[in-house]
Amino acid sequence: MKTPWDVCPQVTHFKAYEPGLSMEEIRQKYGLEKIVKLASNENPFGVSKKVEECIQKNAMNAFRYPQAGNPQLVAKLARYYSAKYPALSEKNIFLGNGSDEIIDLLFRVRTIPNVHNVVAFNPCFGLYVTQAKFHGCELRQAKLNEDLSFNFQALLELVDGKTSMVFVTSPDNPSGRLADKGALIALAKALPSSCLLIIDEAYIEFAFCEDNAETEANVSLISELSTYKNVAIMRTFSKVYGLAGLRIGYAILPEELAGYLWRVRLPFSLNILAHDAAIAALEDQEYKLKTVTHTTKERVKLFENLSQLGCHVFPSASNFLMFSLPESAKITAKEFSSKLLEKGYIIRYLASYGFPNHLRVTIGTEEQNAEFFALCKEFLQ
Ligand SMILES: *Cc1c(COP(=O)(O)O)cnc(C)c1O
Repeated sequence: MKTPWDVCPQVTHFKAYEPGLSMEEIRQKYGLEKIVKLASNENPFGVSKKVEECIQKNAMNAFRYPQAGNPQLVAKLARYYSAKYPALSEKNIFLGNGSDEIIDLLFRVRTIPNVHNVVAFNPCFGLYVTQAKFHGCELRQAKLNEDLSFNFQALLELVDGKTSMVFVTSPDNPSGRLADKGALIALAKALPSSCLLIIDEAYIEFAFCEDNAETEANVSLISELSTYKNVAIMRTFSKVYGLAGLRIGYAILPEELAGYLWRVRLPFSLNILAHDAAIAALEDQEYKLKTVTHTTKERVKLFENLSQLGCHVFPSASNFLMFSLPESAKITAKEFSSKLLEKGYIIRYLASYGFPNHLRVTIGTEEQNAEFFALCKEFLQ
């Protein structure tokens, strides 16, 4: 479409983000009383009570600008991580308006338009695709293996002297698969030192807990940041801390790069309520522990239940499960998700990720999971 004004050429090809129906619209359309959303990997326990109190108490500060650079939250996160990994300090922490903003800023700081390329798997997080386009940067994508495990060799083959960043999501979305730590270290070593390896660990907290004897050091590269200077890690308050609506993401990365990101970031991108809520969330580790313990337990249960129905379920270290219906099923994955929707259960149909026969469901409360499973049984029998 022609516009009466000039915009950057890369922008003319952009399409508006198409949101699905809101929960309220679905309620009205199907005449439902209760809606259960298991489509966006949000925390089923809602906001922690302590965070809610903090937000209410801080409402009266909304007239103030946040402090540029968010020093209190930076200090809090630095204390939290340096207690476990002494090599890390405040200088390694960067904050953004969700991981979304951090991804955008990484492109701004690390890529020269029409010079650099970036490498990721296919499918990958949508923001890598849109921001690469926006920044005039070629995105090269390697195929995952048939079982959706990571093919790091294929990834490496796409890397050349102009590759400025490689993105790996672990645990991956939508499969839930955790990358092997040894393989990630091998990848970090194999990349040219000018190429930054970014591990998106939005779901990493669901990959380790006391119950399954995994530890953070076993599953995350965070313990290796001081050894490998070309590695960055992104995490978020959106999932395990239950704050998706407030938009707070953070990265732990080499000091020099963090410095550049701070220089480029808009000074007030993290609002004052979000900033204080994140501090309260970090102080409420009990809520986080409860979330992880619950998710781990329910994930095993739902995995077994869906498998028993004949579904193929992918191994997940995350707060969701990706699955396909049994071959004997008389309905398609798309019809299955529509039928669930009519009953008020929203899950993610994965056609837009390139999986027209697959679905992704977020682990909900015990009751939600049981009801979801009962519906699955009903639709498949
Ligand atoms: C949910 C999610 C995030 C978190 O994004 P925010 O902007 O922090 O909410 C990041 N990466 C992946 C792959 C995700 O699924």
